Amino acid sequence: MDLCNEKDIKALLGRHGFRFSKSMGQNFLIEGWVPRDIAEASGAEAHCGVLEIGPGIGPLTVQLAQRAGRVAAIELDKALLPILAETLAPYDNVSVIPGDAMKLDLAALVNEQFPGLTPIACANLPYNITTPVITALIEANCFASITVMIQREVALRICAAPGTSDYGAFSLFCQYHTQPEFLFEVPPECFLPAPKVTSAVIRLVPRPEPPQDLVEESFFFQVVKASFAQRRKTLLNGLSAAFGSRLDKDVLRSILEDCGLPADVRGERLGIPEFARLAATLQNHLHAQ
Ligand code: SAM
Repeated sequence: MDLCNEKDIKALLGRHGFRFSKSMGQNFLIEGWVPRDIAEASGAEAHCGVLEIGPGIGPLTVQLAQRAGRVAAIELDKALLPILAETLAPYDNVSVIPGDAMKLDLAALVNEQFPGLTPIACANLPYNITTPVITALIEANCFASITVMIQREVALRICAAPGTSDYGAFSLFCQYHTQPEFLFEVPPECFLPAPKVTSAVIRLVPRPEPPQDLVEESFFFQVVKASFAQRRKTLLNGLSAAFGSRLDKDVLRSILEDCGLPADVRGERLGIPEFARLAATLQNHLHAQ
């Protein structure tokens, strides 16, 4: 059976009485080049254990199983389990894990599933949980790479440079922990049912070290959050809303000046080094009080 032939897929789904669930972000791939190119881009090889989230009926799982040492695929929809048992039957290096990827301890799962292998993550993610899943994959802190297909719009946000309209707190989070790369786009016609938006594949490679060591990570992100909380406001107003009870606005203005930043600068202009310098200077002032 061809897992990327629309007619074969419809016949398979019909035989199992399967109904698509919008709330589970179910858009299945129906073009063979897409799972092939995603698996290829993931760099899956015999020494890798691949964690997949949402195998659907398994077109990407099959491509990964043909390349990797092991594949563990977490699927939330119980109705897909008998279908996966059929489509993945030829592969003895795949485990399907029924459950919600958002509720599982991904690092523990990787330890248990992939002893002696290099863990990587690869998935065509459900649109509705893209951001929390990417956050969980990064925070699991155990993957050598994370290759995911997501909405193009979110992919652009993740890879955005400071000063562009796509740049925001999530770009900074991803770019602080990883080096993101925009790989290729996938049009809506490649899915059943076709989504309203274009998709894109990105690869995130975790940085061996944080990009700066001027300041504690948690305080760095506190400052980032404060700076983007009021997107159309100046950085000074954002910082004042978050730290105003402890630091006078004039002190905050002089902190910006010390960091070489104009008083009317907006958060979206600052890259990681500028945020790190600002957070370190702010923290020094807070400690000195
Ligand atoms: N990988 C398949 C493909 O490319 O054709 C299906 C991708 S589809 C966009 C997303 C898949 O994720 C669906 O199979 C859906 O049931 C599953 N899913 C949705 N939410 C999930 C969750 N929280 N945990 C695990 N799987 C989930």
